[in-house]
Amino acid sequence: MIDPFGRIVSYLRVSVTDRCDFRCAYCMAEDMQFLPRDELLTLEEMERLCAAFIRLGVKKLRLTGGEPLVRRNVMSLIEGLGSRLGQGLEELTLTTNGSQLAKHAAGLAQAGVRRINVSLDTLDEAKFARITRWGRLGQVLAGLEAAQAAGLAVKINMVALKGVNDDEFDAMLEWCGRQGFDLCLIETMPMGEVTHREETHLPLAAVRRDLAQRWSLSASDYQTGGPARYMRVAETGQRIGFITPLSHNFCEGCNRVRLTCTGTLYMCLGQEDAVDLRRPLRASADDAGLIQAIERGIAAKPKGHDFDISRVAVARHMSVTGG
Ligand code: SAM
Ligand code: SF4
Repeated sequence: MIDPFGRIVSYLRVSVTDRCDFRCAYCMAEDMQFLPRDELLTLEEMERLCAAFIRLGVKKLRLTGGEPLVRRNVMSLIEGLGSRLGQGLEELTLTTNGSQLAKHAAGLAQAGVRRINVSLDTLDEAKFARITRWGRLGQVLAGLEAAQAAGLAVKINMVALKGVNDDEFDAMLEWCGRQGFDLCLIETMPMGEVTHREETHLPLAAVRRDLAQRWSLSASDYQTGGPARYMRVAETGQRIGFITPLSHNFCEGCNRVRLTCTGTLYMCLGQEDAVDLRRPLRASADDAGLIQAIERGIAAKPKGHDFDISRVAVARHMSVTGG
């Protein structure tokens, strides 16, 4: 699949549910309204959709949400997709808040998942409870232990929040080094209405300059197929990545499209361009109409987002399109 700007689309992110057991302040409102349950694709429909994308050239799948591991029976989808590894699909990964990892880490490894991203914005218990509103740090740390025991490579995603966790970058980098985790810092993106996002936004270019005064950071050509730019940290032997959608736009190399749990395909995280795949999927057991709809979507992939932290770029929250 090649878009109008010559970019090859080989990476699909799937939001398997927009629901979540946390309510991170930068991501959701506490009284979040979720998509109606009767509009959800079944797990079998999601697998059929993913299979169509793999036939069209998708090599990497990332399951996300909402919290992917709170969707009932999600392991059956993961096992089904895992069985396609080596048959067009090269990598199956997951982004998770870690709350259910203690239960599922071994199953994920067994299904063929090798790397996961776990979101963790702080190592301070009280602060963790404040940021996630409903989460408990101990639950996530237990999940991370299970992931290590299962042999999963872990990258920690930390959203950089001014006045909230900007005193913890050194501690997090050091802790990740000890655990053998890579760390990825993320700038907040203006998706969906939440309170206080603008005042906690922290451009990462300055954070990187500051870290470089105490840590030996060297350029790394490590690429995961995602938007992060990585540096090697000599002191820990691990990597640190920076996702900077606002201070440095990464759209020119974008290889991704995103599917929601109701079957809408979004061509860009920060734009409204979308096609409905649920209707063609349900209209026929044959995939011809579905493939035409996917191709229509790819042909309409926009050049990039135009995020500006002072205004909400798109009304939908990150949990709908999948981070
Ligand atoms: N629930 C899972 C988790 O938290 O990892 C997966 C979905 S979550 C939407 C994916 C990633 O997006 C997380 O790392 C989260 O911190 C990040 N995220 C959520 N809302 C964001 C926003 N407005 N700006 C930047 N990152 C955001
Ligand atoms: Fe849930 Fe992830 Fe959003 Fe936090 S960032 S509320 S864990 S979907």
